[in-house]
Amino acid sequence: MSSNTSAACQSCRFFDEHKTNAGQGSGDVGLCRFNPPVSQPEPQSQGLWPVVASKDWCGHFTADITPAE
Ligand code: SF4
Repeated sequence: MSSNTSAACQSCRFFDEHKTNAGQGSGDVGLCRFNPPVSQPEPQSQGLWPVVASKDWCGHFTADITPAE
């Protein structure tokens, strides 16, 4: 069995660029949209999307299919 070494969050369809946290100062992180937001600190606060590194990966990896525009 050959391993799929191309699996990486940055090329996963569920990876979303983490633009709103400009203070983080790094383009190497993004949000994983595979699951709904989780871990609300308080009932009034928004749920949080998991932050993942661009070179991270998980078993839900799905290659991004960029539609032609
Ligand atoms: S954590 Fe998994 S599902 Fe989420 S972006 Fe990375 S590879 Fe994709």
